[in-house]
Amino acid sequence: MNPSSIIAIDGFASTGKSTLAKRLSQHYKIPFIDSGAMYRGITLFAIEKKILKGDNLDRKGLGFALEGIKIKFDFNSGDLFLNGENIAEKIRLPLVSDHVSSIAALSFIRDFLLKQLRQMGQESGLVMDGRDIGTVVFPEADYKFFFNAQPEVRAQRRFEELKAQGQKITFDAVLENLIQRDALDSDRDVAPLRRAYDAIEIDTSERTTDEVFAFLLQKIEAK
Ligand code: C5P
Repeated sequence: MNPSSIIAIDGFASTGKSTLAKRLSQHYKIPFIDSGAMYRGITLFAIEKKILKGDNLDRKGLGFALEGIKIKFDFNSGDLFLNGENIAEKIRLPLVSDHVSSIAALSFIRDFLLKQLRQMGQESGLVMDGRDIGTVVFPEADYKFFFNAQPEVRAQRRFEELKAQGQKITFDAVLENLIQRDALDSDRDVAPLRRAYDAIEIDTSERTTDEVFAFLLQKIEAK
């Protein structure tokens, strides 16, 4: 594979996209960017600045505040920085998961992040995961994958991860959040979650990380 290649991984929530994107990044020695982390970062910012209170969003306020936001995904550590603060852990909080899809549906938020995500692809090859990478961010990506899995399997994996981090959350709450996010992400008007016509689909429900990795490598090397 050419080191300036772009690999796009899209799909439903908690299907293993970031885990596999990281593996590919290590294997091919190209940066990995978790685009979902950027949407989570903006959501956390809106919550902390009280621009988002409960379900009430001050859209204008968020639009103005964006001008003062510097959001940076660090390739090496995989951490996310917002105005210099490392917010990698905070963006995984259930409160952020609960609101991120409504923030991500706003066209001005997508425009703001689209520019930054595309810019990263100008600098070098990369592997990026998200919802609209193969359809909107990099429609010309060299390799495109689309991940799916049964909701209960995804919820169980995410539940284990959150439990291991010490978060107090039930399996049902995790499942509900995944289903709700998938619906909002698929039904929004701007850049909805879709499989690109030329993306290779994989169901990760019954496969281990190693098996999915082997599948991706085989498809990339065969192209
Ligand atoms: O990937 P992750 O599950 O952390 O993404 C969080 C949310 O960010 C998604 O549910 C979706 O609403 C939004 N997102 C998006 N477009 C992307 C990546 C993430 O709308 N490219």
